[in-house]
Amino acid sequence: MRTPTRPTIPIAKPQLGEEEAAAAREAILSGWVTQGPRVLAFEAAFGHAVGAAHACAVSNCTTALHLALHVLGVGPGDEVVTVSHSFIATANVVRYCGATPVFVDIDPRTFNIDPAGVEAAITPRTKAIMPVHQMGLPCDLAAVLAVATRHGLPVVEDAACAIGSEIRLADKWERVGRPHGTIACFSFHPRKIVTTGDGGMLTTNDPALDAKVRSLRQHAMSVPDTTRHAAKRVIFEEYPEVGFNYRMTDIQAAVGAVQLRRLPGILARRVELAGRYARALAGLPGLVPPHVPDYARPNYQSYPVRVTADCPVSRNGLMTRLLACMISTRRGIMNAHQEAGYVTAGPYRLPESEAARDGTLLLPLFHSMTDEEQEYVVACLRRATGSAR
Ligand SMILES: *Cc1c(COP(=O)(O)O)cnc(C)c1O
Repeated sequence: MRTPTRPTIPIAKPQLGEEEAAAAREAILSGWVTQGPRVLAFEAAFGHAVGAAHACAVSNCTTALHLALHVLGVGPGDEVVTVSHSFIATANVVRYCGATPVFVDIDPRTFNIDPAGVEAAITPRTKAIMPVHQMGLPCDLAAVLAVATRHGLPVVEDAACAIGSEIRLADKWERVGRPHGTIACFSFHPRKIVTTGDGGMLTTNDPALDAKVRSLRQHAMSVPDTTRHAAKRVIFEEYPEVGFNYRMTDIQAAVGAVQLRRLPGILARRVELAGRYARALAGLPGLVPPHVPDYARPNYQSYPVRVTADCPVSRNGLMTRLLACMISTRRGIMNAHQEAGYVTAGPYRLPESEAARDGTLLLPLFHSMTDEEQEYVVACLRRATGSAR
């Protein structure tokens, strides 16, 4: 392989510019820097963007998921049916509640929860179902919701990566996060497609749940400080239960509002890049582009490629060869059950999750990726798999 002279092509890159910097500056100089007017405005814009009646901003998606399970009453002795094949936060938040995650295997084509496995995993201790829209590809929510309805269980959608993704339910295309389950949770970590540095959002259509998460994200304080600030008389607040400090700052929210305006452009470019990858991969042996079911329009937060036995190079070999070309890749999504905090609770039988972690690679895909950069990645893939003409 040629000695590369170009800078490394990263796996992902946030799309941030002068507008975000100006918005952060304005928030700082306003004198109100945490959970104030800019958080309220960002929540309204986000709710509008995904079609949710209520949106509540928090410090990150991990705290959003924890709050979601907490307000649904998940506690010690309970079980939450979810996937192991996800970022570790999905499993960890169940443990924060003192409950046990019950891991269901994935559909190997979509990397998402297998609905048949959900039904089989339900016990009298099951308190909630938590599917993930992995890498921004909507899961088979219609099937999961049917199981949930049959058993009278709430559904928390881990939509960390799924901002802007669309799902078809009852013959209507809608954005993930209306939500279609009970609560959906989003992440604004820089590895996702819209970022506030760190940040998270819960959406729900249930006003009572929204009121609860709003209170609990700020220590369950009975009177928010915005109210005390505006009050004409002295008010003393109370703390009727044990809450959390899961606030988002106004600086983050100011950045988020700008990012949200960029979302249509970000989505369009990602779909374009993903389409070009798919066409290029079609000619390469043993490399399988992501499968998109007819009920899903993904945002391509990540671009997973299956490396099958037909590929002349192993997955790890391919990652090494691409790195030598200054191209960053990542392995497939991790599995919580193979990590120290979970491994001893096994044995587990999750063969598809394990095969997906070890037989998949994520290719670089980001808004500002140029056509030339993508062509270079494809050319290197072609050479690395021995398909160069
Ligand atoms: C990133 C991610 C999270 C955690 O989000 P944070 O905002 O970093 O806390 C949770 N679940 C999934 C599936 C993720 O990809």
